[in-house]
Amino acid sequence: MSELWQLTLHEARAGLDSGSFSAVDLARSCFERIAQVENRVKAFVTLTESHALQQAEQADRALSEGRGGPMTGIPVQVKDLISTRGIATTCSSRMLENYVPVYDATVWEKLSRQGAVLLGKGNMDEFAMGSSCENSAFFPTHNPWDLDRVPGGSSGGAAASVAADEAIVALGSDTGGSIRQPASLCGVVGLKPTYGRVSRYGLIAFASSLDQIGPVGKNAMDCAITMNAIAGYDSRDSTSLDLPATDFAASITGDIKGLRLGIPGEYFVDGMEPGVRTAVETAIKGLESLGASVEPVSLPTTQYALACYYIIAPSECSANLARYDGVKFGYSYQDTPDMWQAMETTRQQGFGPEVKRRIMLGAYALSAGYYDAYYLKAQQVRTLIRQDFARVFEQVDALVTPTSPVVAFPIGEKTADPVQMYLIDVCTLPINIAGLPAMSVPCGFSDGLPVGMQLIGPHLSEGMLLNLASAYEQATEWHKARPGI
Ligand code: GLN
Repeated sequence: MSELWQLTLHEARAGLDSGSFSAVDLARSCFERIAQVENRVKAFVTLTESHALQQAEQADRALSEGRGGPMTGIPVQVKDLISTRGIATTCSSRMLENYVPVYDATVWEKLSRQGAVLLGKGNMDEFAMGSSCENSAFFPTHNPWDLDRVPGGSSGGAAASVAADEAIVALGSDTGGSIRQPASLCGVVGLKPTYGRVSRYGLIAFASSLDQIGPVGKNAMDCAITMNAIAGYDSRDSTSLDLPATDFAASITGDIKGLRLGIPGEYFVDGMEPGVRTAVETAIKGLESLGASVEPVSLPTTQYALACYYIIAPSECSANLARYDGVKFGYSYQDTPDMWQAMETTRQQGFGPEVKRRIMLGAYALSAGYYDAYYLKAQQVRTLIRQDFARVFEQVDALVTPTSPVVAFPIGEKTADPVQMYLIDVCTLPINIAGLPAMSVPCGFSDGLPVGMQLIGPHLSEGMLLNLASAYEQATEWHKARPGI
């Protein structure tokens, strides 16, 4: 290991604690790496170097005084829809281009209190709507494995920054796959926690019944350490689960003997790339050889999940995004004769095409006369999807599927066809509909591009999933592969 920016969180912790290097050394090293590659990767909307160096100095002071914790001095990237006090939080949208929050999201409040160092804010699809990072109003992020390809989305900046070794760990958010799918396409690890496990306070809302914040890291242990720091009850999020603290890192024992794994045939969809299928099937055999048992299971309502999601998510989005009226905060166009025109022009100019499409879909599904046929029906289907999972989890402990049916695709390839873009999330969005935890773990390559395996568990089973992922990592090298950028 020659450079500090190459370290995992776990290794960085050990080095900081033993005094082999300081938090300032580590932060400087990450910014050196950023200087080398960021003009090609473009994973950051905002870089916060001077702020980071101040935080790193404070971290060094805390460490020298014995006040350090697991995240003290660890450089992180934070997705640009997580509010950071005094630092622009744009949602990669013109609407919030100049928005500077006056308060911290709970997750960032927790991390910064523990001495984590903010490298900057991660690029994303505008308001987290997209699967490729091409919907950022500012610029697309590039996949470090092939700069002509997308990193996935919407947390493309998170996955690309970790894959390119710019950040030690990153925070993303996942409404229908936005942590797991980019993690898969960039060859890193991503965890979407159980709905309610991590506070959404200060997360700029897309679809509130689906949104959840989680880590993107270089391995399962790094995600576990980050989860320890961000999870937990928060009275400021009414959907937060009031549970005793869990030590996710302690769940990692490496032993998965006797674990029952279900393979839902419905997730091995038509049109999935053969290289993805081969990699995931080989990984399943690997898990079996580590002592897990494998059996086929069926989740018959899977076929309705995409349609259900594309009613519920846009409906919630149309309500959540009504607040951008040009009056209270954000972009405001005032050069019109009356208030209504000011509001219309503000929204016309402030939102990009995908966000407008979602608002229109949602407003339509919620409107009188259509509500029962669309929104209500989707909610009923949601219940069936949840029941499907509940039934299967009486039979098995976890499910193994591909994260994405395809590997990273060329920038521009799917932008003209929204439905093609939506289809990429077939394997990830049922999990949000059911509120379950799931993660993506690198499990091979197809045509030189990373493939991710998705591990899905019942509610609150993050510890088991992290252990499963870690056991797989101990037996393989895929998570260690790095792009030669
Ligand atoms: N790609 C999905 C969408 O566009 C999921 C996005 C997300 O998880 N934020 O809605």
